[in-house]
Amino acid sequence: MIYLDHNATSPLRPEARAAMLAAWEAGGNPSSVHAAGRKARATVEGARETVARLVGAAADDVVFTSGGTEAIWLALAGAIAGALENDARINRLLISAIEHDAVRSNAAAAAARVAGLRAETIPVTGDGVVNLDALRTALREGKGRALVAVMVANNENGVIQPIGEVAILAQESGALLLADAVQAAGKIEIGDLASYADYISLSAHKLGGPQGVGALIAKSGAPFAAQVLGGGQEKRRRAGTENVAGIAGFGAAASAADAHRDEARLSKLRDDFEHALRKAVPEVAIFGANARRLPNTSNFALPGTAAETAVMALDLEGVMVSAGAACASGKVARSHVLEAMGVSDEIARAVLRVSFGWNSTDADGAAAIAALDKIVARARARAAA
Ligand code: PLP
Repeated sequence: MIYLDHNATSPLRPEARAAMLAAWEAGGNPSSVHAAGRKARATVEGARETVARLVGAAADDVVFTSGGTEAIWLALAGAIAGALENDARINRLLISAIEHDAVRSNAAAAAARVAGLRAETIPVTGDGVVNLDALRTALREGKGRALVAVMVANNENGVIQPIGEVAILAQESGALLLADAVQAAGKIEIGDLASYADYISLSAHKLGGPQGVGALIAKSGAPFAAQVLGGGQEKRRRAGTENVAGIAGFGAAASAADAHRDEARLSKLRDDFEHALRKAVPEVAIFGANARRLPNTSNFALPGTAAETAVMALDLEGVMVSAGAACASGKVARSHVLEAMGVSDEIARAVLRVSFGWNSTDADGAAAIAALDKIVARARARAAA
C-alpha cells in the first residue's frame, strides 16, 4: 500500500521510534530526584530544546501537551484567563475563516462562555490566503483588545499564510497572535516564528513523531493562566506526569524533520503529480495552486466523482489519500476551507487531498498517477455508457 496522507498523520520516523523505545526502557518519572527520574528529566528537557528550535523559541516557553488540539485550546483558554488576571482582558477573537476546527470550535466556545468576548471571522481570498485588508479593518474598527488566530499553513490545501504580515498588523494594534504551526512545522522553514507570534501550536504526529503529543509555545510575557492544575509540571503551566516517551519521540522527529527537510524533492513529487493530473483531467481544479503552498500538498476536484467514492477506489488500487475535507469518525464533513474560498458545494464534494511526506518516493507518485488515471477512465466510461 502507498500512503499519501501525511497531512492527516505522518508515519513514525525510525529516529522517533528508537527514542521512544529507549525512553520506555529507561522508565522513571521526570519529577523524581533519583537516577531514573533524572534521566527521564534529561530526555524531556533535550526534546524541549529541539522542539523550541523548530520555531526559534526559548526552551522555557515550550509547554508539552497531548497534541495540537490541546495546544490550541490551552493557548486560547490560557490567554483569555491570563489577560483577565492582569486586568487587560481580551474582548475579541479574530479567527481566519480557514482555521482548523480546533481553533474555530474553541474560539466559539470561549465566546459563548465568557461575557463580553466576541469571536469574529476574517475572510480569505479565492486562493485561500487570509485577507489582510479585512484583518487590518477589523483590528482598526473594533473596540478592545484582540487575539488574532491565523495558521501558518492550511491542512487541506497547504496554502502558506502571510503570517509575518499578520503579526505586524497585530502588533500595530496591540493584539496578541496565535499561529497554528501544526502543518507547517518540519515542512517549511519557520525558524523565526517565535520572534513575532505570542502563541504557537505544534503537533508531533504531523512531522513523523507519535500521535497524542504536541506543544504550545507560550512566549514569556504573553498573558497565560494554567488550565489543568495539579502537580507543578511544565513550570506550573500544564499539570500531569509528562508523556516522556511521546515527548522523546517528538524531539527526535523534530530533529530529523529539521535536518532532512526535503522541500525541493517533495515539491518536485507534488508538481509532477499535478502535471500528470492536469494531462489526465484537463478540467481539474487545483486549490491554492496560485498561492505559496506547502511543498507536499495537492488539493483538487475531480469533477463528477464523489470524493468518498474516489478515496475508496484509490484505496482498492493500493493508494491511500483523503477526501478534501476533514474526516471525523469516518464521515466526510463539508469543508469550511473550500466554502471560505468560494468553492461551490457540488465541486467541494469531489475534492481529494494527496499529501506526500518523508518516506514518499518517485514510485509512490507514479503509482498514484496510474491509479488516478484508471479511476478517471472508469468514471468516463460510466458517464459515456
Ligand atoms: N491544526 C491543524 C492545522 C491541523 O491540521 C491539526 C490536525 O489535523 C490540528 C491543528 C490538530 O492537531 P492534533 O491532531 O495533534 O490534535
